[in-house]
Amino acid sequence: KTRVYKFGNKDADGNSTMKNLLGGKGANLAEMSLIGIPVPPGFTITTEVCTEYNQLGQDAVVKMIKQEVEDSIANIETIMGTEFGDKENPLLVSVRSGARVSMPGMMDTVLNLGLNDDVVIGLAEKSGNERFAWDSYRRFIQMYGDVVLGMKPESKEDIDPFEEIMEALKHKRSIELDTQFTIQDLKDLVYDFKEAVKKRTGHDFPTNPWDQLWGAVVAVFNSWNGDRAVYYRTMNGYPGEWGTAVNVQAMVYGNMGENSGTGVCFTRDAGTGENVFNGEYLINAQGEDVVAGTRTPQQITKLGSLRWAKLAKVEEEDRAENYPSLEELMPEIYNELNEYQEKLELHYRDMQDMEFTMQNGKLWILQTRNGKRTGAAMVKIAMDSLKEGLITEKEALLQIEPSKLDELLHPVFDPKALKRANVIAQGLPASPGAATGKIVFFADEADNYKSSILVRIETSPEDLEGMNIAKGILTARGGMTSHAAVVARGMGKCCVSGAGALKINYKRRTLTVDGHVYQEGDWISLNGSTGNIIEGKVATSEPELSGEFAELMKLSDKYTTMNVRTNADSPKDAKVAVKFGAQGIGLTRTEHMFFEVDRIKAMREMILADTLKGRKEALNELLPMQRSDFEGIFEAMAGLPVTVRLLDPPLHEFVPHQLETQRSLAEDMHISLEAVKIKVAELEEFNPMLGHRGCRLGITYPEITEMQARAIIEAALNLKEKGIEAKPEIMVPLIGTIAEFENQEAIIRATANKVFEERNDTIEYLVGTMIEIPRAALIADLIAAKADFFSFGTNDLTQMTFGYSRDDAGKFLPVYIEEGILKVDPFEVLDQEGVGQLVKMGTDKGRSVKPKLKVGICGEHGGDPSSVEFCYNTGMNYVSCSPYRVPIARIASAQAAI
Ligand code: PEP
Ligand code: MG
Repeated sequence: KTRVYKFGNKDADGNSTMKNLLGGKGANLAEMSLIGIPVPPGFTITTEVCTEYNQLGQDAVVKMIKQEVEDSIANIETIMGTEFGDKENPLLVSVRSGARVSMPGMMDTVLNLGLNDDVVIGLAEKSGNERFAWDSYRRFIQMYGDVVLGMKPESKEDIDPFEEIMEALKHKRSIELDTQFTIQDLKDLVYDFKEAVKKRTGHDFPTNPWDQLWGAVVAVFNSWNGDRAVYYRTMNGYPGEWGTAVNVQAMVYGNMGENSGTGVCFTRDAGTGENVFNGEYLINAQGEDVVAGTRTPQQITKLGSLRWAKLAKVEEEDRAENYPSLEELMPEIYNELNEYQEKLELHYRDMQDMEFTMQNGKLWILQTRNGKRTGAAMVKIAMDSLKEGLITEKEALLQIEPSKLDELLHPVFDPKALKRANVIAQGLPASPGAATGKIVFFADEADNYKSSILVRIETSPEDLEGMNIAKGILTARGGMTSHAAVVARGMGKCCVSGAGALKINYKRRTLTVDGHVYQEGDWISLNGSTGNIIEGKVATSEPELSGEFAELMKLSDKYTTMNVRTNADSPKDAKVAVKFGAQGIGLTRTEHMFFEVDRIKAMREMILADTLKGRKEALNELLPMQRSDFEGIFEAMAGLPVTVRLLDPPLHEFVPHQLETQRSLAEDMHISLEAVKIKVAELEEFNPMLGHRGCRLGITYPEITEMQARAIIEAALNLKEKGIEAKPEIMVPLIGTIAEFENQEAIIRATANKVFEERNDTIEYLVGTMIEIPRAALIADLIAAKADFFSFGTNDLTQMTFGYSRDDAGKFLPVYIEEGILKVDPFEVLDQEGVGQLVKMGTDKGRSVKPKLKVGICGEHGGDPSSVEFCYNTGMNYVSCSPYRVPIARIASAQAAI
C-alpha cells in the first residue's frame, strides 16, 4: 500500500480524483503538476495515515512511512538541486494540513522547516540576502513553536510569547514595523525565541531537520482533533474518520526582495459572482502576510486597483505610485498568472481560489481549489458558467449548495432607512449582506447579545465559533482575502474588513472613530455590499431576487419530477411560498388559527362547556372564523392543492394556566373560578405528546371534526362561486389504527355531503391521513385501502421511533452529538437508517394496494437537502417545507434526480 504520493516537475503519483485519500489540497497539487502548472515539488502523506496514527500512535506510524518519506524528500532534492539539512545548498520545506474539504485556517502550517544555526548561514550565502535568511529563521521558530511545541498563548488576554518578545524589542529600539529590525535584531530575536521555548517546554529547540519534520507531521495529525477543527467539522457535519493529509513541499520565497512577492487570487468575484479575475498581492512578503491583514495588500488587476482606490478614497497619483496593481508593476508575471487562472478554471470547470508566490521573478502556484463564495455569487457563477458554455445544465445545478440559497432570501437594508443612516466609516465590502447588532470585541462573547457584531483588529481561526454566532464581522485590518473575509464569505455572513479609521482598544472595550467612542453593547450596522459602517440600528426589508435566481429555479424544475409544497397557516405565508415557487400546501396546521385573542376565547368556551349543546354553541362561533381563514389560504393558492389538517394539539394547550387569566375567564363565562380550575386540572396530562391529541380529539369530540370539515367545504364552495378553484385535501392526524381513520373519514364525508345538499353544489376533495405513528407505517397497506393520500409527519415519527420527546430532547441531544452517539440531530436531518425504513415501508405498503397513492412529507425534514434526496429516492410525489426553504428543497429535489 502506498502511503506517500509524490508530485512536481510536471509529474505526480496522484491526481484530482483522489481527494478522499490525498485531501483537497494534495489532490489538486498533483493535478496541477500533471497539467503543467509550476508547483513547488513535494509529497502528500495520505489521510489514511492520519487514521492509522489515531489508532496505532506515533512510533508505529513513523516506522511505517519512514522509507517512503525519505525517498520523497530525495525526489524533491533532485528536482530542486538542493539538499535537506545541507549547510551550503539547503532544501527548506513547508508542512501543511489538507483535509478532503477545505477548512480555512483550521489546521496548522509550518513554513521554512529545515533551518538551524548552521543552515541559516548557508541560506544567507546562497540567497545573498542575510536579512532574508535570519527573518525566515525567526519566522520558523515562531511558527514551529506555536504549532508544534504548544507555545500559543493560553488565554485571550495574553499575547503570543514571541510577539511579546518582538514588541519589547521594538519598544527598546523605538521602531514600529517588523521591517525596521536590523539583521542583528533578527539574530537577537532568534536567540530570545529559543530561550523562550526552552523556558516554557523544558527542551532545546530541535536542530536536526528530520526531527523538525517528524514533529511537524505529527502536529498536523494532532490538529485534526484540535478544538477549532472539531468545531468546524461538527458545524458542517464532517465525520472524524476522514482525517487530514499532510503536504510537504519545497519552500519558495516571496520575501527575497523587491523582485519577489506573494498573493491570493480568484478567477471570479467571490462576493458578487461577477466574471472578473481579481485578487491581492504583496511585494517582498510571505503568504501569511497577505491573509493576516497586517499590511495593506495591493490589487492584482488594474481594474481591481482602480475600484479599490475609489472605495479607499486614494488619489490616482498615490495609487499608481504606492499601490500599483501587479498588472502594472510586473506585466510579464501578471500575464503568466492570468494564463494559469484561465487554464485552471477551464480545467476544474468552476471558480478557483489560488495562491501564488514569485521568487526572484519566477512564478509558482502554491494552491488551487474551488473558491468559497456567497450565496449570491454561487447562483450567478453557476448561471454565467452555463451561458458561457463552461459547464452543462446538470453541472450548474450540482454546483449549487442548496442551504446557501438561504442567504439570498433574507432581508437587506431598507433603502429609505439607509438614506437617513449615519455612516461613520468605510471598510472593504468583504462579504455582502446587511447586519445590525451590538458591538462585542471577543469572539467567545458573541452570544452575550441576541444580535451582535464582532469587532476585531483582525480575526484568527480561534474566532471561528464567535464569527458564526455574530450577525456580522467588522475588522480594522486586512483585505478582501484576509481570514475574516474568506471565512465570512464561506459562512455567507456579512463582513466589512480593513476599516483603517477604526481604533479598537480591547482592554477598555471601546471602538473609536473620528474621536467618537463606541462602547461594547452599542448598536452598529454593517453593509457588506458597500463596506459602510453605520451608527445604530438600520431597518431591513425583503430582498429582490435576481434574474439568475429565477433562471436557476426554472432549470431545477426541468430535472425533477417531485413537487415542492409548503407548510403555511396563513394567506401571508402562503403568498411568500408561491413567490418562491411552492406548488401547493402540504400542511396547514389549523390549531394555529385558534390562538388569536378573540378566537382563543371561543375555543376555551368550547373546552369548558359541560354539555354537547354548549360545545356546539361555542363551535358555531368558531365556524365563520375558520371558514374565512380557509378562504384566504385557498385564494392565495388558487388552483393548487391545499392540505388542511384537523385539530392536533392536546386541549390543555388552549386553557389558561395562570390564576389571573383563569379568573377573568371564569368571569367572562359566568362560572366559578373553582370550575375553571377543576377543568384545567382534568386536562393535565403526564405525557401530553402521547396523550389526548390528534384524531383522538376528533373521535372524543366529533363535533370539532364536523365544524372543521364544514368550514373547509363551505370555504371551497364560496370561492367556487367567485370563480376561484380550491382543491382541499383534508388530513386526519396521528392515526395508528384503521378504525380511527374510518371514524373520522365518515364524519368528514357525511358533513361534506350535508353541505353539498344545502348549497346544491359540490367540489372535489380528498380525505387522507398523516403517517406519524410507527404503527401506522406498519399497517400502511390497510390504511391505503381507505385513505386518498399519505403525508409522513416525520416530526412525530422521529419522536416515537427514537422515543425522544420533541419537547425535552434539547436537554440531551447536544451531548449526544458532542459525544458522537448521534452524528446529527434527527429532528433536523431525517434518520434514514431507522425512521427512514418506516417511511420507505409505509410508502411501499401503501402503493402495493394503491399504486398511484399520493405520498408526501410534511415534517421539518421536508426542507433539509439530504432528507429531500431520500424522499425523492423513496418515490414521494412531494415534499413540504416552510416558505423560506422552498427554493432550497427545489434545488435539492433536482439534484436528487440528476
Ligand atoms: C409531524 O409530526 O411531522 C408534523 C408535521 O406535525 P406536527 O409537527 O404538527 O406534530
Ligand atoms: Mg405530528
